[in-house]
Amino acid sequence: MDRKKYLVVGAGFSGAVIARKLAEIGNKVLVIDKRNHIAGNCYTERDANTNVMVHKYGPHIFNTNNKKVWDYVNSYGKMRPFINKVIANTDKGIFSMPMNLLTINQFFKTKLKPFEVASFLKEKQKKIENPKNFEEQALAFLGEELYYNFFYGYTKKQWGCEPKELPASILKRLPIRFNYDDNYYNSKYQGIPENGYTEIVENILNHKNIEVKLGQEYNKKVNSAYKHVFYSGALDAYFDYKYDRLGYRTVFFEEKLENGDYQGNAVINYCEEKVPFTRIHEHKHFAPWEIHEKTIVVKEYSKETEGEDEPYYPKRLTKDKKILEQYKAYAKSCQENVSFVGRLATYRYLDMDKVIAEALAYSDYFISKTTPETNF
Ligand code: UDP
Repeated sequence: MDRKKYLVVGAGFSGAVIARKLAEIGNKVLVIDKRNHIAGNCYTERDANTNVMVHKYGPHIFNTNNKKVWDYVNSYGKMRPFINKVIANTDKGIFSMPMNLLTINQFFKTKLKPFEVASFLKEKQKKIENPKNFEEQALAFLGEELYYNFFYGYTKKQWGCEPKELPASILKRLPIRFNYDDNYYNSKYQGIPENGYTEIVENILNHKNIEVKLGQEYNKKVNSAYKHVFYSGALDAYFDYKYDRLGYRTVFFEEKLENGDYQGNAVINYCEEKVPFTRIHEHKHFAPWEIHEKTIVVKEYSKETEGEDEPYYPKRLTKDKKILEQYKAYAKSCQENVSFVGRLATYRYLDMDKVIAEALAYSDYFISKTTPETNF
């Protein structure tokens, strides 16, 4: 047995950041991943035909207010400025997303000024005290017309349930602006890596004390052979679904090759319920510093996870939260040499910057509690 080693399960941002921190103070770390590539759902690769950088599990736009995290990613790869400006394709026409003054003025055929929007919307808003869910939050803030045109159908397709079953926090991810700023995010630092996310994760993992094994299924029976295990896979899978499955949405993609400029923008959301997909991504527009004649166009569909589907979005419905509490209590009672880290193992809807911030903070905490190995 080699109890000198640490095991990290999952080669996404969580696993890579923790492995690097441990390795830098002299620990040997084995990182395994069941997929045959690193970088988890942030995985990017150049399409062999067109050389377009494709975000294989859906587009990722790095955005953060955390300077430490921004400096961290920049130290492992070159980030290029990228501002995500989404277009919403709706029953009533084409609009700018996130909702801003252009969206509101074009939708209502008004010419409102920023200081006039609040009182204009007040007339539309539903009187709901303490909105408890996505739908109530949207109706209380935007009223019926905006809610049904932009959010109801898209959200139903994306999450596979009525928006009133979802937490209000999902809507709060999106800014709603009373000016003409159409930047999808409010974050201070925004960008996309020039050579893709895979290169950044590869550079994080590139350390003499880190060994990476891909295509490796994990079985928790191996835990006792390691000093400590950092598990970033799905929490319910770790416990063999003992308390049932946690609800997840998965997404799947339909990719096709086109010529020239297919849609003139990186992302177009399809808000109508009757359109079967949620959005179309045109990957070359995520790298506007590159020139490509051909283009990769990807339709994104959302569905409930079944069998071997990749879990993407934790649904966190009331029933899921109850199951989650059972897993958390059981994990505590087991007192194993395992830490559950990242989006899947903690069952949260986490952006990349939060994942990196938590992995940095957690490894600092872990290291401060343990004596580092220095003499191999
Ligand atoms: N949403 C919507 N219409 C849109 C864009 C977003 O209804 O055109 C809703 C949807 O429920 C989504 C949520 O707002 O899950 C948050 O959007 P965000 O873009 O943050 O979702 P992501 O693509 O990051 O999962």
